[in-house]
Amino acid sequence: MRAHFLGTGPASGWPAYGKETEKRRRPSTYAFECGEAKFFIDVGSWEAALEGAKRLGNVDFILISHAHVDHWGGLNFFRWGPEMPTFSIKETFEHPYFREIKDAPFSLKLLEVRPFETFEIKGVKITPFPLNHSIPASGFLVECGSKLAYALDTKWLPQESLELLKGSVDYLIVDAALPKGEEGAHNTYEEALRLGKEIGAKVVFAVHLLPSVREAEVLAEGEALGVKVEVPDDGDSFEL
Ligand SMILES: [Zn+2]
Ligand SMILES: [Zn+2]
Repeated sequence: MRAHFLGTGPASGWPAYGKETEKRRRPSTYAFECGEAKFFIDVGSWEAALEGAKRLGNVDFILISHAHVDHWGGLNFFRWGPEMPTFSIKETFEHPYFREIKDAPFSLKLLEVRPFETFEIKGVKITPFPLNHSIPASGFLVECGSKLAYALDTKWLPQESLELLKGSVDYLIVDAALPKGEEGAHNTYEEALRLGKEIGAKVVFAVHLLPSVREAEVLAEGEALGVKVEVPDDGDSFEL
């Protein structure tokens, strides 16, 4: 499986309006290729979606984690094209934040998935699992050769989700938004790395970092905890 990290930023992106950062990070947009299958998990940025679609050549389907706009704002890019299967939990489609897409999906074909019910599309096995966030949100366990868990946005994980992932995940892409010690509906980067360790992931990809989180701190924390961590930039791709 090949993973393209196209939008690794939080809701504000990097830089947030009126601020400056040394690099740019667009909101959550991740593209994957595995065998015949080409798909996105979250499309928070129209621009990142365009870049990903160019890289992939065609897109077979999209998974959406939750109704916060930094995870689906780029769906507009796909709304006037060929039919696009778009999977999420019922709570996303019914959430007021998602109303415009629900009312006028055009070429998006909205398909409901349920927690812990595995489905298969184009040779990829996908199991949705609940996350802990400020609104209902779903992670996805993706099995295609290797096993990848996508867990954002979340604060740690509900027990059942933790049990699903423990010992059965090679790679974890995880919400590591907050500075150490900060409270909120997201992991601190330290919690994100501890979660990766608990699950037994071979590599933890720490993403959704707020601009105040220094990448060097995240890497140092990984070293201290004995967790192999990557902090990918927008545009990076990895063979998993
Ligand atoms: Zn987010
Ligand atoms: Zn969110």
